[in-house]
Amino acid sequence: MGEWLYLIIGIAVLVVATTAGLLASGRRKTPPAPRDTTGVISSTTTQAPPGTSAEAPVETPLEAPAAPLVERPEGTASRLVRLRQRLAGSQGALGRGLLALLSRDRLDEDTWESIEDTLLTADIGVAPTQELVDRLRSRLRTEGSQADARAVLREELLTLVDPSMDRRLQVSGADGQPGVVLVVGVNGAGKTTTVGKIGRILVAEGRTVVMGAADTFRAAAVEQLVTWGERVGVDVVRGPEGTDPASVAFEAVKEGSARGVDTVLVDTAGRLQNKAGLMDELGKVKRVIEKQAPVTEVLLVLDATTGQNGLIQARVFSEVVDVTGIVLTKLDGSAKGGIVVAVQRELGVPVKLVGLGEGADDLAPFDAEAFVDALLG
Ligand code: GDP
Repeated sequence: MGEWLYLIIGIAVLVVATTAGLLASGRRKTPPAPRDTTGVISSTTTQAPPGTSAEAPVETPLEAPAAPLVERPEGTASRLVRLRQRLAGSQGALGRGLLALLSRDRLDEDTWESIEDTLLTADIGVAPTQELVDRLRSRLRTEGSQADARAVLREELLTLVDPSMDRRLQVSGADGQPGVVLVVGVNGAGKTTTVGKIGRILVAEGRTVVMGAADTFRAAAVEQLVTWGERVGVDVVRGPEGTDPASVAFEAVKEGSARGVDTVLVDTAGRLQNKAGLMDELGKVKRVIEKQAPVTEVLLVLDATTGQNGLIQARVFSEVVDVTGIVLTKLDGSAKGGIVVAVQRELGVPVKLVGLGEGADDLAPFDAEAFVDALLG
């Protein structure tokens, strides 16, 4: 009798446990996220996410994933008109301030000092400020009251910004290889956003692109890049969190070459706590990529609102990799456009792009004349 009792209790426990298990699994409506492996292409446009079919063999998901809508990025002409207005909005105060001072009847020492202060506040830097003030003083003295202060200021600002620099992005490769753009900078500068935005510009121009999410230390950065890619139908090569960034970069360029795309954009990690570590990491990323194809552009992303700090970062990165162009982000939130002059002087490398907002198409090629005109309002 005792044995029967144990048997019945045993069966009852088994039934309860099985029912509970079924309920728990029934509550999970979505299949588990696919596990990443190095070099997996994250694509919603050309292939199903790996692992989904194996992990949900019986039940069909209650909600079928919606087909992603591929956006059409804003065209060049309207983007430039819109962004120039935004640039004038954020930077115009500098030019207006300078013109008001230069238009005074008497340009005494106090006025020149105020002009200097205005330029320094806009982060132009000490040496360029001194040069500009000296040039303005001597020109306005010799040209006297005939001088058109605005025209003189425009000319001299333009000289400082240097319209002769080649600001074209090298996004094309040679010998049938893709152009490879490596994007570097400290965390928070706007690297991942910039990679996404450049991808959109290239897509808008009809180019084919693959992106590499080599900032493998931040899962959020990888997801962010995948989202940017999905929006315009660009595939992203990614690896699990903590993978060697160089291996992801390598796979991305390999994939881009195999597909014959025009450009591979590679996002990188930006941990600056240790220069030697950064040097090792970025150096390795570049070396490993170049086993596949030459890097055609190394873009350093700098947050325009960080002033002197940005310049220090610029120095460190330029010692680590051969920076070929600067992207200045967050110019929309800062009246410190003078940093363009300071950072170009510091690195001897042109500002090629400027970020003017968090919107997907808020990235513009840098144009010296348009910039100076925006400063002058
Ligand atoms: P990362 O860590 O360098 O990859 O930086 P993220 O790309 O994640 O960007 C950090 C933050 O800066 C995000 O909130 C972006 O939306 C923002 N951001 C990037 N570029 C710009 C810009 O040009 N203007 C503004 N206002 N915000 C920007």
